This record gives sequence, C-alpha cells and structure tokens, in this order.
Amino acid sequence: MNFFASWVFRCPRWIYFKLKYPEMERINPKLKKVGDLGERIALEFLKEKYRLYSTRKRSLYCNGFRITGKPDFKVLRGNDFEIVEVKRVSKIARIPKKRWIAQLNLYLKMEGIENGFILEISRDKIRKSKWRYNQSLFDKSIEFYEKIYESIKGNEIPKGRVGECLNCSFKELCLSHR
Ligand code: SF4
Repeated sequence: MNFFASWVFRCPRWIYFKLKYPEMERINPKLKKVGDLGERIALEFLKEKYRLYSTRKRSLYCNGFRITGKPDFKVLRGNDFEIVEVKRVSKIARIPKKRWIAQLNLYLKMEGIENGFILEISRDKIRKSKWRYNQSLFDKSIEFYEKIYESIKGNEIPKGRVGECLNCSFKELCLSHR
C-alpha cells in the first residue's frame, strides 16, 4: 500500500477514501490553480538567493506499506542543501500547520538532509520558517500512517476529523457514509 508524505496528519477518513475510491474525488479547480501560482512565486523568490536543484520522488519503506513523496524544491546556499515546502495561504497564521512541518520532516528523512524551510505565500507576503529534522515528529508521523494502514487492512472506515471538511474533496462521499 502506498501513502503520500503530503497526507501526514490529514483527516484519516479522507486518506481512506483517497485510496479506496479515487474516482469519487471532486477537486475544486480553483484550488489547483492557486497551488501552481504559489510554486511560480516561490521559484522567483528562491532563484534570487539559492542555487536550485531538481527533486526526485523517493520512498520510505515501513512494515506493510510505503510513504512516497517529492519535495517542492531542493536548494543550496554555501555548502548546505535545504529542502523547501511551499504553501499558498489566504492569510499567514501565527505558526505553520503541524502537518506541513511533518511533511517537510518526512522529506528531510527521505533526502537525508538536516534542514529545510516552509515558504508560506499569501497575497501580499512571503514567510520563511526554518525547521530541523525532528526524530520524535518522524516517529509520530509513522504511527499515524500505521493506524490508518491497520484500519484499511481491517476494512474499517477511520473516524473523520472536524475542521477540514469545508473544502474536502470527498465531502459528498463522506456524507453518504454517515
Ligand atoms: S468531509 Fe470531513 S470527515 Fe469527511 S473525509 Fe472530508 S475532511 Fe474527513
């Protein structure tokens, strides 16, 4: 079974539907456009300060499943590589979401790189927050995937998480399973 690094700490029910019923997903095309624009802005921002390197899809192998992912950017300044994860946001919150930090942390593990940063891009601002590889966050992330893997193996629909439903691409399917 294959999970993606970008799914870490997402609603477990959403992950279940994504794996079991991918054809039932309804993606809002506006959200996709916003994401692409964020990457273009980030590219211009990074080009001024760093040397950019291409990124590759990589996998982490766990007991019965794997986690794959490809970071947005890998950059070099001085002698050190860093991994960059880009997020387009309507408003920059006090701190980045925990699941974004965990996603970056998974990429750091996959790439064997110690440091990275999250670039949050809003309409009028770019915030760069630096993060170091964190083993305990990595362990918690693996536990998260393990629990979902066990639910899917047992053919159980995991519990949903409130707070993520508004723009959920499986909202209709989820409602019909309640
Ligand atoms: S609608 Fe809410 S609970 Fe259902 S899958 Fe989406 S985020 Fe999860």
